[in-house]
Amino acid sequence: MDQYELTPEEIAGNLKRVHENVEAACQRVHRDPSEVTVCAVSKLKSVQDIQAAMAAGQRLFGENYVQEIREKYEELGDSCEWHMIGHLQRNKVKYIVDKVRMIHSVDTMELAQQIEKEAGKRGIVMDVLLEVNVAKEESKWGFSPEEVLTVAKEIGLLPHIRVRGLMTSAPYTEDAETNRVYFRELHGLFTELGHSGCEGVQADTLSMGMTGDYVVAVEEGATMIRVGTGIFGKRDYSAR
Ligand SMILES: *Cc1c(COP(=O)(O)O)cnc(C)c1O
Repeated sequence: MDQYELTPEEIAGNLKRVHENVEAACQRVHRDPSEVTVCAVSKLKSVQDIQAAMAAGQRLFGENYVQEIREKYEELGDSCEWHMIGHLQRNKVKYIVDKVRMIHSVDTMELAQQIEKEAGKRGIVMDVLLEVNVAKEESKWGFSPEEVLTVAKEIGLLPHIRVRGLMTSAPYTEDAETNRVYFRELHGLFTELGHSGCEGVQADTLSMGMTGDYVVAVEEGATMIRVGTGIFGKRDYSAR
């Protein structure tokens, strides 16, 4: 138990609040709330926390670290759906390709080629999102907005990968409104991707918005939000 651990009731209450906020945001911009999926980001959180969220109806969980996915998968298997949302090293693709349903963080052509190879070995098609560094932060992974459509075309041609859309982590900010421009720009690229008619591209997922800015992201067209702290409470990074 880390010092930040919430009770199952608190986790259920937080989940409910996230859904209410999503619904309110959708109402403001005349979207159907069923278009938005909540990915509960459970990195550095316990299996018990995940089970509490599952008991409250949550099915999709996002994880950042390969070792943690392996450990949690061992216990929970396919009783929930796992997405890899963190930076992924090529040599670790083989450990998760049979466990996660989607990889949000494809940020180089080389990583895509490795996923192609490992998915091919297992005879599966991996759903991926291309990570876009839309604010051009030096510290962030991802393709530039200028290159991502060209890259999507190339990656879509890989037979064991299906490009399902785009993902971004907007800059950390106290004021979510400052990220609206980035969400709007990514939504524009996502729409272009959808119209590109590329083979192997099925653009139906726009993953953007975290605890601090998911409401703005939903207003700007996110179809998947990745909420960690807002569901499970603060994370204890000292444990890593
Ligand atoms: C940790 C993480 C999140 C969740 O962040 P919160 O601010 O806790 O909601 C979302 N996306 C990615 C890529 C992350 O690494």
